[in-house]
Formats: sequence, C-alpha cells, structure tokens
Amino acid sequence: MNIKSLHIAVKDTSLSGRYLPENRLESLIALAKKRDVYRLLGSSELDQDIHGILIGRGDKRILAWSQMHGNESTTTKGVVDFVRLLLQESVASDFVSAVLNQHTFLIIPMLNPDGAQVYSRENANGVDLNRDALNQSQREIRVLMRQFDAFKPDLCLNLHDQRSLYGVGNLRVPATLSFLSPSIDAQRSLSPARIEAMSLIVKMVLGLQEHLAGQIGRYDDGFNESCVGDFFQKKGVPTILIEAGHFVGDDAREQTRYFVFEALLYLFQTSLKPYIAQDVVADYLAIPDNHKNMRDLVFKNVSLKGVLVSLGLQKEYEIINNQEQQYLRIEDVDPDHVIMGYTEIDFKGEELLINSHENDFEGEKIATIELKKSKKLIKI
Ligand SMILES: [Zn+2]
Repeated sequence: MNIKSLHIAVKDTSLSGRYLPENRLESLIALAKKRDVYRLLGSSELDQDIHGILIGRGDKRILAWSQMHGNESTTTKGVVDFVRLLLQESVASDFVSAVLNQHTFLIIPMLNPDGAQVYSRENANGVDLNRDALNQSQREIRVLMRQFDAFKPDLCLNLHDQRSLYGVGNLRVPATLSFLSPSIDAQRSLSPARIEAMSLIVKMVLGLQEHLAGQIGRYDDGFNESCVGDFFQKKGVPTILIEAGHFVGDDAREQTRYFVFEALLYLFQTSLKPYIAQDVVADYLAIPDNHKNMRDLVFKNVSLKGVLVSLGLQKEYEIINNQEQQYLRIEDVDPDHVIMGYTEIDFKGEELLINSHENDFEGEKIATIELKKSKKLIKI
C-alpha cells in the first residue's frame, strides 16, 4: 500500500492551512450524513454544533477528538482525511474493510468550534478545555465526558498541535509528531492502560520510520488530572496524545497533516505484525524527549547591555478578515545560547533596535529591525 498516493486519493481538498473554523467541515458533514454516520453530539457555549462521526462494526471502540484547542487544526485535517478513507471502502478496500470489521470509531473532529472560529486555544469563556476535565465547567467538555461514558471506549485519542518550539532531543530537528502515554499519578506509575497506550505508540513510531525517522518526540509526562488525557488514562482507558508539530518549510502544516494520517493508518493497520514487545516501556522511553529548544528564527551574537545573547523569534498567526496573517514575535532572549533556529543569522556582536528601541524585547510583535550603529534595516 502506497500511503502517499492513498492520502492524495482521499484528502479533503476543501481544508488547508491553519485557520479551520466549524463551517470548513461542511464537506465532511455532508458526506457523513449521506453515508448515515453523522451524529450531532451537542453544542458549544455559543451554541455551535459539535459534530460526531460514528463508523465501523468492530468490537474495539475508539474515541478520538481533535481541536479541543481552537487554533490547533492539523490533527483535524489528518483525522478528516482518515474518516474520508473509511468512508470510501472502494479505495484500499482490503485495508478499510479490515479496519471497519475490527473497530468502531466515534470521531469528534472539532470539540471547540467557538475557539476555532476566532483562532484561539481557549473556548468562548476563555477556558482551556484541556484543564477542565475535573471541573467540567464548560459545555464542550461535558459533551466529551457524556460520549466517554456512553460510548465506553477501549482507546482514546487526544489530538493536538504543538508549536515549532519543540525539537527532538538536541538534534536541531523539529518534533514533527510527538506522542504521549499520559501519567495516572505524580509518580508516573505504570498501569495496564498506560502500558497499552505505550505499546500502540511504539507501533506507530515503528511504522513512521520510513518517512519520518528522527523527527518524532516523546511529550512530557508530568501528571495533571485536569488534563483530559491524564483523566481518562487514570480511569483505566488507554489514551494516546498525538501532537502535530513543525516540518521545515511547511508553515501551513500540510506535510504534518499527511504524517498524522500516516500515523493513524499504522495505528489501525490490522495486517501489521502485532508488535510483540520484549520491553514496551523501554521501547517507549527510547523515543527521544521533546525539547523546547527550537525557534523559527534565531539572531545569534546580538549585543544586549554588553552581553552577547541569542534572540529567539517565532512566527505567529492572527486572523484578519477570515485570512491567516503571519507576523514575527520575540519569543525569548537567551544569554546561554541554548536555542537553535530553523534559520539563523549571526550578528557578530552588533546591537539591534527592534521597533526603533533597545531592551525588553520579549513578547514584542516585530515591525522593524535595524542595526543600532548604522541604522541599516534588516530584512527578514
Ligand atoms: Zn492542544
């Protein structure tokens, strides 16, 4: 099976880029309704629909949700493509029939439509839904909890985006995908559910080696029961966090979308030899840690108050007239020169003026950069 051409065959071409509000799911929902796999699961705080796709006839029950953070749309694109594959049994029919015979999926492509509309992480009340698992104060999280209780999943998939800040170890490469089998307590104890999630992650990582070797990270497993993944894992249901990250040259995250699709294929590919683990935990821990050491752009050797520092700059996105606009912001000032850039410029001890002034650069949205001495403007 050539996964790349399969992806091209099923891909939802009405979705692209980072901004993905609820109305962009129109084509998926029309298809799902036509095939009688659509379920309306509830509504958001601002009364937008929360959609579900219920598909498959197998015993193993999979609950997956994406875009609980409204500005994290890459996994939504990937999971929509995966749903479209499952809805087109004529494409890769052996694979699809086997997957549908063995699994029943409940997929929530967008849990936070209000956040998605305004391209924010939080919902309409400013609440981070991934910190609301215990309080369950928001409608969106109650929709998810209701489905969890009624559907009784055997496996949960918690689908997110991570910023380009995350690299793999110290290798100067982005963590294009990161995985986590969340902890169930502060001691990071190993429960059967947690080990099951680890073994499935290893299965995906092994499959992904052909196209994405060296660009896969392991997400931090600090415990927080208010996070949905930790909450479900603690309840004994294996839960996997997938974080879609950066791929060099792919600001629109279309490459990463493909890798999300590929990861899901490996996860559910029933014909793959079962992963027989000698030591699942060791194999899982062998996936390199995510390090927050990468920046989109690093200015090296900038002289700031007499000290040579690195400036880390990040591309940020905002929505203006329904279009995504990119701008640069100073992420951090690093006197220890730990950060690395996908692109780097060496200023060889020059002083800089950013937005015509010096100092306190952190957090600033950048309009202009100039050399202090010569007033020469730097084009970036
Ligand atoms: Zn997230």
